[in-house]
Amino acid sequence: MIGAGPAGAAAAITAASAGLRVALIDKAAFPRDKLCGGGVTARAYGYARAVFGDLPQDLFHVSRAVRFSSGTATVARVEPAPPIYMTMRSGFDAVLRARAIAAGAVDCCGQRMMDCAPEAGRVTLADGQVLQAAVVIGADGVHSAVARALLGGGPDLRSMGFALEAEVPGAPGPETELDLTALPWGYGWDFPKPQGRTLGIGGLAVQDQDLRPRFHAWLRARGVDPALVKIKGHHLPSGTSRPQAGRGSVLLAGDAAGLVDPITGEGIGWAILSGQMAGQAAVEALRARAPDSAFQRYHRRMGPVRAELVRARLLAKLVYHPALQPRLLRSLAGSDHLQRRYLALLAGEMDYADLGPRRLAGVMWRVLAARHARSRLDATGSGG
Ligand SMILES: Cc1cc2nc3c(=O)[nH]c(=O)nc-3n(C[C@H](O)[C@H](O)[C@H](O)COP(=O)(O)OP(=O)(O)OC[C@H]3O[C@@H](n4cnc5c(N)ncnc54)[C@H](O)[C@@H]3O)c2cc1C
Repeated sequence: MIGAGPAGAAAAITAASAGLRVALIDKAAFPRDKLCGGGVTARAYGYARAVFGDLPQDLFHVSRAVRFSSGTATVARVEPAPPIYMTMRSGFDAVLRARAIAAGAVDCCGQRMMDCAPEAGRVTLADGQVLQAAVVIGADGVHSAVARALLGGGPDLRSMGFALEAEVPGAPGPETELDLTALPWGYGWDFPKPQGRTLGIGGLAVQDQDLRPRFHAWLRARGVDPALVKIKGHHLPSGTSRPQAGRGSVLLAGDAAGLVDPITGEGIGWAILSGQMAGQAAVEALRARAPDSAFQRYHRRMGPVRAELVRARLLAKLVYHPALQPRLLRSLAGSDHLQRRYLALLAGEMDYADLGPRRLAGVMWRVLAARHARSRLDATGSGG
Protein backbone atom coordinates (compact mmCIF):
# COMPACT_ATOMS: atom_id res chain seq x y z
CA MET A 1 0.00 0.00 0.00
CA ILE A 2 1.38 3.39 -0.93
CA GLY A 3 -0.28 5.91 1.40
CA ALA A 4 -1.47 5.29 4.95
CA GLY A 5 -4.44 7.69 4.96
CA PRO A 6 -7.96 6.24 5.35
CA ALA A 7 -7.82 4.44 1.97
CA GLY A 8 -4.39 2.86 2.48
CA ALA A 9 -5.07 1.94 6.11
CA ALA A 10 -8.38 0.30 5.13
CA ALA A 11 -6.72 -1.69 2.35
CA ALA A 12 -3.87 -2.70 4.68
CA ILE A 13 -6.06 -3.86 7.58
CA THR A 14 -8.31 -5.83 5.21
CA ALA A 15 -5.43 -7.59 3.45
CA ALA A 16 -3.33 -8.15 6.59
CA SER A 17 -6.31 -9.54 8.54
CA ALA A 18 -6.81 -12.08 5.73
CA GLY A 19 -3.20 -13.23 6.14
CA LEU A 20 -1.43 -11.38 3.30
CA ARG A 21 2.05 -9.90 3.81
CA VAL A 22 1.45 -6.17 3.55
CA ALA A 23 3.83 -3.18 3.54
CA LEU A 24 2.12 0.08 4.56
CA ILE A 25 4.20 2.93 3.11
CA ASP A 26 3.77 6.66 3.77
CA LYS A 27 6.15 9.57 3.31
CA ALA A 28 4.89 10.99 6.62
CA ALA A 29 5.58 9.77 10.13
CA PHE A 30 2.28 9.59 12.04
CA PRO A 31 0.54 11.46 13.51
CA ARG A 32 0.62 13.79 10.51
CA ASP A 33 -1.53 16.71 9.46
CA LYS A 34 -3.91 16.42 6.51
CA LEU A 35 -5.78 19.47 5.31
CA CYS A 36 -9.42 18.45 5.66
CA GLY A 37 -12.69 19.60 7.18
CA GLY A 38 -12.64 16.37 9.18
CA GLY A 39 -16.40 15.97 8.85
CA VAL A 40 -16.96 12.22 9.15
CA THR A 41 -20.55 11.68 8.06
CA ALA A 42 -22.66 8.94 9.62
CA ARG A 43 -22.16 6.97 6.41
CA ALA A 44 -18.35 7.27 6.64
CA TYR A 45 -18.41 6.56 10.38
CA GLY A 46 -20.30 3.34 9.65
CA TYR A 47 -17.67 2.29 7.08
CA ALA A 48 -14.87 3.16 9.54
CA ARG A 49 -16.37 1.05 12.34
CA ALA A 50 -17.01 -1.86 9.98
CA VAL A 51 -13.39 -1.87 8.80
CA PHE A 52 -11.44 -0.72 11.87
CA GLY A 53 -13.75 -1.61 14.80
CA ASP A 54 -14.91 0.77 17.54
CA LEU A 55 -13.08 4.10 17.54
CA PRO A 56 -12.05 6.14 20.60
CA GLN A 57 -14.83 8.65 21.23
CA ASP A 58 -12.44 11.44 22.26
CA LEU A 59 -11.45 11.66 18.57
CA PHE A 60 -14.84 13.23 17.81
CA HIS A 61 -17.11 16.12 18.55
CA VAL A 62 -20.53 14.83 17.53
CA SER A 63 -22.54 17.61 15.88
CA ARG A 64 -26.32 17.24 15.82
CA ALA A 65 -27.30 20.71 14.66
CA VAL A 66 -26.87 21.95 11.08
CA ARG A 67 -27.41 25.53 9.96
CA PHE A 68 -27.74 26.20 6.24
CA SER A 69 -26.75 29.78 5.52
CA SER A 70 -26.39 32.25 2.70
CA GLY A 71 -23.61 34.62 3.74
CA THR A 72 -24.45 35.66 7.27
CA ALA A 73 -28.20 34.99 6.90
CA THR A 74 -29.69 31.72 8.13
CA VAL A 75 -31.61 29.82 5.45
CA ALA A 76 -32.65 26.95 7.71
CA ARG A 77 -31.58 25.23 10.91
CA VAL A 78 -32.09 21.54 11.60
CA GLU A 79 -31.83 20.11 15.10
CA PRO A 80 -31.65 17.27 15.85
CA ALA A 81 -29.91 16.35 12.60
CA PRO A 82 -28.21 13.04 11.80
CA PRO A 83 -24.85 13.02 13.61
CA ILE A 84 -21.68 14.27 11.94
CA TYR A 85 -18.53 13.03 13.69
CA MET A 86 -16.18 16.02 13.56
CA THR A 87 -12.55 15.07 13.96
CA MET A 88 -8.97 16.26 13.46
CA ARG A 89 -7.34 14.15 10.79
CA SER A 90 -4.00 13.92 12.61
CA GLY A 91 -5.59 11.90 15.44
CA PHE A 92 -8.16 10.03 13.32
CA ASP A 93 -5.67 8.84 10.67
CA ALA A 94 -3.11 7.87 13.33
CA VAL A 95 -5.67 5.52 14.94
CA LEU A 96 -6.64 3.92 11.60
CA ARG A 97 -2.99 3.40 10.66
CA ALA A 98 -2.19 1.93 14.11
CA ARG A 99 -5.08 -0.56 13.71
CA ALA A 100 -3.65 -1.68 10.34
CA ILE A 101 -0.21 -2.19 11.90
CA ALA A 102 -1.77 -4.09 14.82
CA ALA A 103 -3.46 -6.38 12.26
CA GLY A 104 -0.02 -7.32 10.90
CA ALA A 105 0.82 -4.75 8.19
CA VAL A 106 4.54 -3.89 8.18
CA ASP A 107 5.12 -0.26 9.16
CA CYS A 108 7.01 1.58 6.40
CA CYS A 109 5.79 5.07 7.36
CA GLY A 110 8.15 8.03 7.45
CA GLN A 111 9.60 7.01 4.07
CA ARG A 112 8.66 8.58 0.75
CA MET A 113 8.13 6.31 -2.23
CA MET A 114 10.70 7.72 -4.68
CA ASP A 115 9.97 5.60 -7.69
CA CYS A 116 7.62 2.86 -8.76
CA ALA A 117 7.07 0.49 -11.65
CA PRO A 118 3.61 -0.54 -10.45
CA GLU A 119 2.84 -3.16 -13.09
CA ALA A 120 6.17 -4.85 -12.33
CA GLY A 121 5.22 -4.64 -8.61
CA ARG A 122 8.37 -2.66 -7.82
CA VAL A 123 8.48 0.21 -5.35
CA THR A 124 11.63 2.13 -4.33
CA LEU A 125 11.72 3.89 -0.97
CA ALA A 126 13.74 6.97 0.05
CA ASP A 127 16.38 4.86 1.84
CA GLY A 128 17.05 2.91 -1.39
CA GLN A 129 15.13 -0.20 -0.32
CA VAL A 130 13.34 -1.86 -3.23
CA LEU A 131 10.13 -3.70 -2.37
CA GLN A 132 8.58 -6.30 -4.65
CA ALA A 133 4.83 -6.94 -4.46
CA ALA A 134 2.34 -9.16 -6.28
CA VAL A 135 -0.35 -6.44 -6.01
CA VAL A 136 0.26 -2.69 -5.63
CA ILE A 137 -2.44 -0.44 -4.15
CA GLY A 138 -1.99 3.28 -4.79
CA ALA A 139 -3.71 5.15 -1.96
CA ASP A 140 -1.34 8.08 -2.17
CA GLY A 141 -3.82 10.91 -2.42
CA VAL A 142 -4.91 13.45 -4.99
CA HIS A 143 -1.50 13.83 -6.67
CA SER A 144 -0.91 10.05 -6.69
CA ALA A 145 2.50 9.06 -8.05
CA VAL A 146 1.24 5.48 -8.53
CA ALA A 147 -1.57 6.75 -10.79
CA ARG A 148 0.91 8.88 -12.73
CA ALA A 149 3.29 5.95 -13.21
CA LEU A 150 0.44 3.65 -14.27
CA LEU A 151 -1.74 5.90 -16.41
CA GLY A 152 0.73 8.60 -17.43
CA GLY A 153 0.32 12.35 -16.91
CA GLY A 154 -1.07 14.06 -13.83
CA PRO A 155 -4.67 14.79 -12.96
CA ASP A 156 -6.30 17.68 -14.81
CA LEU A 157 -5.91 20.35 -12.13
CA ARG A 158 -8.14 22.80 -14.01
CA SER A 159 -11.16 20.55 -13.67
CA MET A 160 -10.41 19.70 -10.06
CA GLY A 161 -11.91 21.17 -6.91
CA PHE A 162 -9.89 23.43 -4.65
CA ALA A 163 -10.43 24.48 -1.05
CA LEU A 164 -8.95 26.88 1.51
CA GLU A 165 -9.13 26.17 5.22
CA ALA A 166 -8.17 27.59 8.60
CA GLU A 167 -8.20 26.06 12.07
CA VAL A 168 -9.43 28.27 14.87
CA PRO A 169 -8.58 26.93 18.33
CA GLY A 170 -11.00 27.36 21.23
CA ALA A 171 -14.40 26.03 22.15
CA PRO A 172 -16.33 24.13 19.45
CA GLY A 173 -19.08 26.21 17.84
CA PRO A 174 -22.72 25.34 18.66
CA GLU A 175 -23.54 23.90 15.23
CA THR A 176 -22.30 22.84 11.80
CA GLU A 177 -22.70 25.71 9.34
CA LEU A 178 -22.96 25.12 5.60
CA ASP A 179 -22.90 28.39 3.63
CA LEU A 180 -24.42 27.51 0.28
CA THR A 181 -23.51 30.81 -1.39
CA ALA A 182 -19.90 31.22 -0.24
CA LEU A 183 -18.75 30.50 -3.81
CA PRO A 184 -20.48 30.38 -7.20
CA TRP A 185 -19.59 26.69 -7.68
CA GLY A 186 -19.02 25.56 -4.13
CA TYR A 187 -19.83 26.22 -0.50
CA GLY A 188 -18.37 27.25 2.85
CA TRP A 189 -18.21 25.35 6.12
CA ASP A 190 -17.72 26.12 9.77
CA PHE A 191 -17.28 22.81 11.59
CA PRO A 192 -17.21 22.45 15.39
CA LYS A 193 -14.25 20.34 16.51
CA PRO A 194 -13.20 18.80 19.82
CA GLN A 195 -10.83 21.76 20.39
CA GLY A 196 -12.08 24.53 18.14
CA ARG A 197 -13.46 25.09 14.66
CA THR A 198 -12.41 24.34 11.09
CA LEU A 199 -13.55 26.96 8.59
CA GLY A 200 -13.20 26.62 4.85
CA ILE A 201 -14.51 27.42 1.41
CA GLY A 202 -14.16 25.14 -1.56
CA GLY A 203 -15.36 24.85 -5.09
CA LEU A 204 -15.93 22.34 -7.82
CA ALA A 205 -13.24 23.78 -10.05
CA VAL A 206 -10.59 26.45 -9.61
CA GLN A 207 -12.66 28.96 -11.52
CA ASP A 208 -12.40 31.59 -8.85
CA GLN A 209 -9.15 33.55 -9.00
CA ASP A 210 -10.26 35.64 -6.01
CA LEU A 211 -10.52 32.70 -3.63
CA ARG A 212 -8.10 34.03 -1.00
CA PRO A 213 -9.56 37.57 -0.62
CA ARG A 214 -13.01 36.01 -0.70
CA PHE A 215 -12.01 33.65 2.12
CA HIS A 216 -10.58 36.55 4.15
CA ALA A 217 -13.90 38.38 3.90
CA TRP A 218 -15.80 35.19 4.72
CA LEU A 219 -13.68 34.64 7.86
CA ARG A 220 -14.11 38.24 8.98
CA ALA A 221 -17.90 37.87 8.66
CA ARG A 222 -17.58 35.01 11.18
CA GLY A 223 -15.53 37.00 13.64
CA VAL A 224 -12.17 35.48 12.65
CA ASP A 225 -9.23 37.76 11.84
CA PRO A 226 -7.52 36.19 8.79
CA ALA A 227 -4.20 37.69 9.88
CA LEU A 228 -4.28 35.58 13.05
CA VAL A 229 -4.87 32.15 11.48
CA LYS A 230 -2.88 29.96 9.14
CA ILE A 231 -4.66 29.55 5.81
CA LYS A 232 -3.86 26.50 3.72
CA GLY A 233 -5.14 25.29 0.36
CA HIS A 234 -5.39 21.88 -1.25
CA HIS A 235 -6.82 20.27 -4.36
CA LEU A 236 -9.90 18.15 -3.97
CA PRO A 237 -10.57 15.52 -6.64
CA SER A 238 -14.29 16.26 -6.65
CA GLY A 239 -16.02 15.42 -9.85
CA THR A 240 -12.95 14.02 -11.57
CA SER A 241 -12.95 10.36 -10.58
CA ARG A 242 -10.59 8.51 -12.86
CA PRO A 243 -12.33 6.52 -15.59
CA GLN A 244 -10.01 3.64 -14.78
CA ALA A 245 -8.94 3.11 -11.15
CA GLY A 246 -6.12 0.68 -11.94
CA ARG A 247 -5.02 -2.05 -14.31
CA GLY A 248 -4.03 -5.72 -13.88
CA SER A 249 -2.41 -6.05 -10.46
CA VAL A 250 -2.46 -2.30 -9.70
CA LEU A 251 -5.41 -0.68 -7.88
CA LEU A 252 -6.09 2.97 -7.03
CA ALA A 253 -8.19 3.84 -3.99
CA GLY A 254 -9.53 6.99 -2.30
CA ASP A 255 -8.37 10.37 -3.63
CA ALA A 256 -5.86 8.62 -5.92
CA ALA A 257 -8.91 7.30 -7.80
CA GLY A 258 -10.70 10.67 -7.56
CA LEU A 259 -13.39 9.44 -5.20
CA VAL A 260 -14.74 12.65 -3.70
CA ASP A 261 -18.43 13.57 -3.78
CA PRO A 262 -18.67 16.74 -5.91
CA ILE A 263 -21.71 18.02 -4.02
CA THR A 264 -20.67 17.52 -0.42
CA GLY A 265 -16.86 17.39 -0.83
CA GLU A 266 -16.92 14.21 1.25
CA GLY A 267 -14.07 11.77 0.58
CA ILE A 268 -13.23 9.98 3.84
CA GLY A 269 -16.05 7.45 3.57
CA TRP A 270 -15.32 6.64 -0.08
CA ALA A 271 -11.61 6.32 0.75
CA ILE A 272 -12.34 3.75 3.48
CA LEU A 273 -14.84 1.81 1.37
CA SER A 274 -12.64 1.74 -1.75
CA GLY A 275 -9.59 0.81 0.36
CA GLN A 276 -11.51 -2.08 1.86
CA MET A 277 -12.65 -3.23 -1.59
CA ALA A 278 -9.11 -2.96 -2.97
CA GLY A 279 -7.85 -5.07 -0.05
CA GLN A 280 -10.56 -7.67 -0.64
CA ALA A 281 -9.81 -7.78 -4.38
CA ALA A 282 -6.10 -8.31 -3.66
CA VAL A 283 -6.90 -11.17 -1.25
CA GLU A 284 -9.20 -12.88 -3.77
CA ALA A 285 -6.76 -12.46 -6.65
CA LEU A 286 -3.83 -13.88 -4.70
CA ARG A 287 -5.90 -16.79 -3.39
CA ALA A 288 -6.79 -17.55 -7.02
CA ARG A 289 -3.04 -17.26 -7.84
CA ALA A 290 -4.00 -14.64 -10.40
CA PRO A 291 -2.64 -11.25 -9.22
CA ASP A 292 -3.43 -9.75 -12.63
CA SER A 293 -7.13 -10.35 -11.98
CA ALA A 294 -7.10 -7.97 -8.99
CA PHE A 295 -8.25 -4.93 -10.95
CA GLN A 296 -11.12 -6.78 -12.63
CA ARG A 297 -12.35 -7.93 -9.20
CA TYR A 298 -11.95 -4.43 -7.72
CA HIS A 299 -13.71 -2.79 -10.68
CA ARG A 300 -16.70 -5.11 -10.23
CA ARG A 301 -17.01 -4.36 -6.53
CA MET A 302 -16.72 -0.62 -7.16
CA GLY A 303 -19.57 -0.51 -9.70
CA PRO A 304 -22.18 0.97 -7.30
CA VAL A 305 -19.69 3.57 -5.98
CA ARG A 306 -18.82 4.71 -9.50
CA ALA A 307 -22.50 4.93 -10.44
CA GLU A 308 -23.26 6.98 -7.32
CA LEU A 309 -20.47 9.46 -8.09
CA VAL A 310 -21.59 9.79 -11.72
CA ARG A 311 -25.08 10.72 -10.45
CA ALA A 312 -23.53 13.17 -7.97
CA ARG A 313 -21.50 14.78 -10.76
CA LEU A 314 -24.58 15.28 -12.85
CA LEU A 315 -26.54 16.70 -9.96
CA ALA A 316 -23.66 18.98 -8.88
CA LYS A 317 -23.88 20.81 -12.22
CA LEU A 318 -27.45 21.66 -11.29
CA VAL A 319 -27.15 22.23 -7.55
CA TYR A 320 -24.29 24.71 -7.97
CA HIS A 321 -25.59 26.32 -11.12
CA PRO A 322 -25.89 30.08 -10.49
CA ALA A 323 -29.18 30.20 -12.44
CA LEU A 324 -30.73 27.63 -10.14
CA GLN A 325 -29.24 28.66 -6.80
CA PRO A 326 -31.82 31.30 -5.74
CA ARG A 327 -34.63 28.82 -6.45
CA LEU A 328 -32.79 26.09 -4.55
CA LEU A 329 -32.27 28.35 -1.53
CA ARG A 330 -35.93 29.33 -1.51
CA SER A 331 -36.94 25.67 -1.72
CA LEU A 332 -34.55 24.70 1.05
CA ALA A 333 -35.73 27.52 3.33
CA GLY A 334 -39.36 26.52 2.90
CA SER A 335 -39.07 22.77 2.97
CA ASP A 336 -38.30 20.62 6.02
CA HIS A 337 -38.50 17.70 3.64
CA LEU A 338 -35.69 18.99 1.39
CA GLN A 339 -33.49 19.84 4.41
CA ARG A 340 -33.96 16.33 5.80
CA ARG A 341 -33.27 14.74 2.41
CA TYR A 342 -29.98 16.62 2.07
CA LEU A 343 -28.95 15.50 5.56
CA ALA A 344 -30.15 11.94 4.87
CA LEU A 345 -27.86 11.90 1.82
CA LEU A 346 -24.94 12.95 4.01
CA ALA A 347 -25.83 10.36 6.64
CA GLY A 348 -26.03 7.57 4.08
CA GLU A 349 -29.71 7.00 4.86
CA MET A 350 -30.39 7.54 1.17
CA ASP A 351 -28.39 7.62 -2.08
CA TYR A 352 -28.49 9.96 -5.08
CA ALA A 353 -30.18 7.06 -6.88
CA ASP A 354 -33.13 7.45 -4.47
CA LEU A 355 -33.80 10.91 -5.91
CA GLY A 356 -35.09 9.11 -8.98
CA PRO A 357 -34.53 9.86 -12.67
CA ARG A 358 -37.86 11.74 -13.04
CA ARG A 359 -37.02 14.15 -10.23
CA LEU A 360 -33.54 14.70 -11.74
CA ALA A 361 -35.03 15.29 -15.18
CA GLY A 362 -37.43 17.85 -13.66
CA VAL A 363 -34.59 19.79 -12.04
CA MET A 364 -32.56 19.68 -15.25
CA TRP A 365 -35.52 21.00 -17.26
CA ARG A 366 -35.92 23.96 -14.87
CA VAL A 367 -32.20 24.84 -15.19
CA LEU A 368 -32.35 24.73 -18.96
CA ALA A 369 -35.53 26.84 -18.97
CA ALA A 370 -33.86 29.43 -16.71
CA ARG A 371 -30.78 29.54 -18.96
CA HIS A 372 -32.94 29.88 -22.04
CA ALA A 373 -34.92 32.74 -20.48
CA ARG A 374 -31.68 34.48 -19.50
CA SER A 375 -30.11 34.18 -22.95
CA ARG A 376 -33.32 35.57 -24.52
CA LEU A 377 -33.18 38.52 -22.14
CA ASP A 378 -29.48 39.07 -23.00
CA ALA A 379 -30.26 38.89 -26.73
CA THR A 380 -33.12 41.40 -26.33
CA GLY A 381 -30.83 43.70 -24.31
CA SER A 382 -28.01 43.69 -26.86
CA GLY A 383 -30.46 44.21 -29.75
CA GLY A 384 -32.12 47.27 -28.14
C1 LIG B 1 -9.79 21.35 2.37
C2 LIG B 1 -10.40 19.97 2.35
C3 LIG B 1 -11.47 19.69 3.18
C4 LIG B 1 -12.04 18.39 3.17
N1 LIG B 1 -13.05 18.12 4.05
C5 LIG B 1 -13.59 16.87 4.09
C6 LIG B 1 -14.58 16.54 5.05
O1 LIG B 1 -14.97 17.36 5.87
N2 LIG B 1 -15.10 15.28 5.03
C7 LIG B 1 -14.67 14.33 4.15
O2 LIG B 1 -15.19 13.20 4.16
N3 LIG B 1 -13.69 14.62 3.24
C8 LIG B 1 -13.13 15.85 3.20
N4 LIG B 1 -12.12 16.12 2.33
C9 LIG B 1 -11.63 15.04 1.44
C10 LIG B 1 -10.72 14.08 2.23
O3 LIG B 1 -9.72 14.82 2.89
C11 LIG B 1 -10.07 13.06 1.28
O4 LIG B 1 -11.03 12.56 0.38
C12 LIG B 1 -9.42 11.90 2.05
O5 LIG B 1 -8.35 12.36 2.83
C13 LIG B 1 -8.92 10.81 1.10
O6 LIG B 1 -8.19 9.84 1.80
P1 LIG B 1 -6.99 9.05 1.08
O7 LIG B 1 -6.56 8.00 2.04
O8 LIG B 1 -7.40 8.66 -0.28
O9 LIG B 1 -5.84 10.14 0.86
P2 LIG B 1 -5.00 10.97 1.92
O10 LIG B 1 -5.74 11.12 3.19
O11 LIG B 1 -4.58 12.21 1.19
O12 LIG B 1 -3.72 10.06 2.19
C14 LIG B 1 -2.74 9.88 1.22
C15 LIG B 1 -1.44 9.54 1.92
O13 LIG B 1 -0.46 9.24 0.92
C16 LIG B 1 0.79 9.71 1.36
N5 LIG B 1 1.66 9.89 0.18
C17 LIG B 1 1.47 10.70 -0.88
N6 LIG B 1 2.49 10.60 -1.74
C18 LIG B 1 3.35 9.68 -1.24
C19 LIG B 1 4.60 9.13 -1.66
N7 LIG B 1 5.20 9.51 -2.80
N8 LIG B 1 5.21 8.23 -0.86
C20 LIG B 1 4.64 7.82 0.30
N9 LIG B 1 3.46 8.32 0.75
C21 LIG B 1 2.82 9.22 0.00
C22 LIG B 1 0.46 11.02 2.07
O14 LIG B 1 1.47 11.36 3.01
C23 LIG B 1 -0.88 10.67 2.75
O15 LIG B 1 -0.70 10.26 4.10
C24 LIG B 1 -11.52 17.40 2.31
C25 LIG B 1 -10.43 17.69 1.48
C26 LIG B 1 -9.87 18.96 1.49
C27 LIG B 1 -8.68 19.26 0.61
